[in-house]
Amino acid sequence: MFVSNHINVNEKNHLSIGGCDSLDLAKKFGTPLYVLDEAVIRENCRRYVDSVNKFYNGNGMILYASKALCAGGVLKIADEEGLGLDVVSGGELYTAHKAGFPMEKVYFHGNNKSEDELRMALDFGVGRFVVDNEQELSALSRLAKEKGKTASVLFRIKPGVDAHTHDFIRTGQIDSKFGVALETGEALAIVKKAVCAENIAFCGIHCHIGSQIFDLAPFCEAASVMMGFIKEIKTECGADVRELNLGGGFGISYTEADDPLPYGTFMEAVSRVIHEEAEKHGVALPFILMEPGRSIIGPAGVTLYTVGNVKEIPGVRTYVSVDGGMADNPRYILYQAEYDFLNAGAAGSDKTEVVTVAGKCCESGDLLGEHVAIQPVRPGDILAVMATGAYNYSMASHYNRLPNPAVVLADGGSARVIVRRETYEDLVKNDVL
Ligand SMILES: *Cc1c(COP(=O)(O)O)cnc(C)c1O
Repeated sequence: MFVSNHINVNEKNHLSIGGCDSLDLAKKFGTPLYVLDEAVIRENCRRYVDSVNKFYNGNGMILYASKALCAGGVLKIADEEGLGLDVVSGGELYTAHKAGFPMEKVYFHGNNKSEDELRMALDFGVGRFVVDNEQELSALSRLAKEKGKTASVLFRIKPGVDAHTHDFIRTGQIDSKFGVALETGEALAIVKKAVCAENIAFCGIHCHIGSQIFDLAPFCEAASVMMGFIKEIKTECGADVRELNLGGGFGISYTEADDPLPYGTFMEAVSRVIHEEAEKHGVALPFILMEPGRSIIGPAGVTLYTVGNVKEIPGVRTYVSVDGGMADNPRYILYQAEYDFLNAGAAGSDKTEVVTVAGKCCESGDLLGEHVAIQPVRPGDILAVMATGAYNYSMASHYNRLPNPAVVLADGGSARVIVRRETYEDLVKNDVL
């Protein structure tokens, strides 16, 4: 499976990423190595931005959900492509600040922001606070007043659309730690409170219905529910809702089994629903926001490992052990996430073997894939795991004191480091003896 024109097989039958031979990258930068194809990231950004222009008259903004991969070098690309940013913690916010990201385009999410984080966001001048609950609203109002500032807010709403069930369902009251519910009147109550709260400017509402979603229907349903709420707010509070943020969650292809829709399709379908509902309810068209994370960065990433031992257990399975594992990619141990595997040095050849790819951590569950197809592999070969751009680097740990790999950005045949490989010294620098 090749994800783009830029990630492909070269004349040596090696995997090539952004015009760079993956074996050269492994040699130059070491393994494990996260490689990102810059052109793929930019293309994905542009597809989203174009879809807002084409289907919604440009009356919206795409936010990169930075939790998918938060590093200054990536945030800069998102900025250059005209995207705003979704951050969920002081650390992500600080990364954006250090990268020089325009703060007025930063949306600060999170179900449990601390007062320190709220203060820092006020000081930096973030564009919007996506407020989760009443306690946060009160704290934000008080802190903004102390600083003589006004905080612009959206509220995180539970639209009652759960996209993570088999055929998605609308339930009366979904069980979620995020946001305020519509059905109970909790959502309306918080909006009423915001409208007259000191140092608070009420701007809009937000929802996010899940991740790795392939259906249009739950997004359309959520858009329709949110438009209904916009009408209710107008009737009950006399307030116009200027912004509607529909979150992220668009699915990508990890293996051939996944069949994602072109990104524009989401915007096209959602735009239609919003236009219909706005007309039906007699409310203005809101400025629209979407927050893709995985679908911007996921397909752009490849992780390169060096194969250590290959252990064939006759009649059972063959373990291929690599020099990373759950510490740099915890998605298999967390959710049995599936990936596509390649011997990077024989990338165009047939996958004639079935193996289990194991990491080097002290856990039997430290696997990257079980019974996966791959070309024959031997010790010393470079093994590639495809579509690892999202939720790999950002979820990496130091388990077994494995230093985090470097992240390199490949484009037009050259590559540069955007996150340095950690050293053993980095690992012990906070130890107090
Ligand atoms: C996780 C998350 C996103 C991004 O989700 P993806 O599946 O990576 O597109 C966007 N918005 C919110 C609020 C999120 O929690």
